[in-house]
Amino acid sequence: MTERPATRRELVILGSGTAVPTPRRGPSGAVLAVGDEVTLIDPGPGALQRACRAGFPAETIGRVLLTHHHPDHCLDLAAVLFARKSPALPPPGGPLEIVGGPGTAALLERLEAVFGGWITLPPGDRVVRELAPGRFDVGSVAAEAFPILHSPASLAYRFTLGPGDGEDRFVLAISGDTDVCDGAVDVARGADCYVLEAAYADGSTARGHLTPRKAAEIAARAGCRRLVLTHFYPEVDVEDARRVAREFFGARVTIAEDGLRIPLRTVVRAPS
Ligand SMILES: [Zn+2]
Ligand SMILES: [Zn+2]
Repeated sequence: MTERPATRRELVILGSGTAVPTPRRGPSGAVLAVGDEVTLIDPGPGALQRACRAGFPAETIGRVLLTHHHPDHCLDLAAVLFARKSPALPPPGGPLEIVGGPGTAALLERLEAVFGGWITLPPGDRVVRELAPGRFDVGSVAAEAFPILHSPASLAYRFTLGPGDGEDRFVLAISGDTDVCDGAVDVARGADCYVLEAAYADGSTARGHLTPRKAAEIAARAGCRRLVLTHFYPEVDVEDARRVAREFFGARVTIAEDGLRIPLRTVVRAPS
């Protein structure tokens, strides 16, 4: 069930798959919804339509946040821009913010060079922010970017919702794509929830990604409270992944599915 916008705090997994989609798992994508602030994270192919299906049509998206620039994490940026150019779209509430690591502005310029006026927003209708590792904000949410081992300038993100140490405080970490590295641990230290990739099956020697066991070991080092595994290539048997993650992480493990809604609260409130 979708929370009311005024009180909403949730992450919706739009795509739990990779560059090789399956009928069950689309490429990357997630929505971070806090109040009426909607951030589309890593919009891979089809993410905009799946966001719409999850209750976040194009006009509600105020920000696109990228972990890196592989097509399975950013191709629907063009779709978001194209939708905003459409006269059929209700007027968005403000400029679209496009946020990511170094190279994000160049990515946008190249997309605009390919598609021209079909996706090019007037300068006042979009804002581009390139991040270095360190603190930044996602609307009203405090965030921090951590360098990780994948493609050049890949970043993982830590979001702290709620003020101080009160019961409303919730720390969410999202890895993007990563291999084993300190940044993948640091981003999720003590986090309430860590959405972490486990792209390859255990036993794979390929680089640039994790396996369920490597992911579970990273989550255990980070000391997070809940681990959500995602970004599965078709070769990954998710029941094996769940078993291995429980063995090596030992706490709460969730296998992401497309459409999974994760409430970003430690205290469950009765509906009012
Ligand atoms: Zn990927
Ligand atoms: Zn990647």
